[in-house]
Amino acid sequence: MSMRAVVFDEPGEPMEVQEIDRPEPDPDGIVVETEACGICRSDWHAWRGDWEWIGVSPTPGLVFGHEPVGTVAEVGSDVETLEVGDRVCVPFNLSDGTCRYCKQGRANICERVIPLGFVPFQPGAFAEAFPVRNADHNVVRLPDGVDPVEVAGLGCRFATAFHGLVHRVDVTPGDWVAVHGCGGVGLSAVHIADALGANVVAVDLADEKLRKAEDLGADETVDVTAVDDVPTAVKAYTPSNRGVEISVDALGIAETCRNSVRSLCKGGQNLQIGLTTSEEEGEVSLPVDTIVMEEREFLGTFGMPPHEYEEIFSMMERGKIDPGKIVSKTVSLQEVPEVIASMDDYETIGIPVCTEF
Ligand SMILES: [Zn+2]
Ligand SMILES: [Zn+2]
Repeated sequence: MSMRAVVFDEPGEPMEVQEIDRPEPDPDGIVVETEACGICRSDWHAWRGDWEWIGVSPTPGLVFGHEPVGTVAEVGSDVETLEVGDRVCVPFNLSDGTCRYCKQGRANICERVIPLGFVPFQPGAFAEAFPVRNADHNVVRLPDGVDPVEVAGLGCRFATAFHGLVHRVDVTPGDWVAVHGCGGVGLSAVHIADALGANVVAVDLADEKLRKAEDLGADETVDVTAVDDVPTAVKAYTPSNRGVEISVDALGIAETCRNSVRSLCKGGQNLQIGLTTSEEEGEVSLPVDTIVMEEREFLGTFGMPPHEYEEIFSMMERGKIDPGKIVSKTVSLQEVPEVIASMDDYETIGIPVCTEF
């Protein structure tokens, strides 16, 4: 049987919808019929040919798409916890469920982590259906009645921001949190920090993104184009200009990373969410002596282990957070290549989601 999918050819070359073979489940895997899938800057990075230095080198024929929601269509013979018809979402970093990190509850940094939709043996969800390996460990069943678009909206960006702010740094109500870069993950971080009771400063160069950040709970904004020095402008909002307790680099270019670290108060924590671009190739110089003498911390965060979805769902059900607010538009499979290509100019607002397959 065949199905429609967005197929990668060469870095930066326009992608097309093609008919390809429909996947079949491994014994420990499932096949999910896609209902919705978020379109992410990570897709753009991979399509552009970034990230070779972290082991991502897409090959012709690859199908992207790592923020899916769907219905289980086929179940492998060894799968114990899922049935045909279950509605599920899938965290993008697939784990083995058995290594020391998985056993510590840190499946997102599994020893044998496999990213959904970035390698040929684990195709993604810009397709009518997609397979998931090791499904008992990697698939999250949805609560009844949740909207697939909303759940796609909490794809890697919302989940990463949630895991980072809730489990990697210590946000206390009344803390100041700066978020550098208000793309999908940055806006998610603004919304979550607000829900945690922090005072939030959103930083970006696009007025429209700063207004969206205000809608999502930012108390103050810094327009990068209107100030001489971003860290000074961020610190000006905090008591005695001391700086923020938590600063999030939600973009990952050298400038936002340094600005983020330099916005901190003594003892402050930098949460690094953004991965770098081909400019940095993973290396950014930082004010190390200041980090030492002021006991600042620099913490990475990568995706979210499946068991933390329960926390998000319970906050969603009670209206404390609303990932749907960050979804900017819904598109069809046909439009996905164009949306990814349009990320060249950083003009995408919020999270676009593909809903027609
Ligand atoms: Zn593992
Ligand atoms: Zn993503």
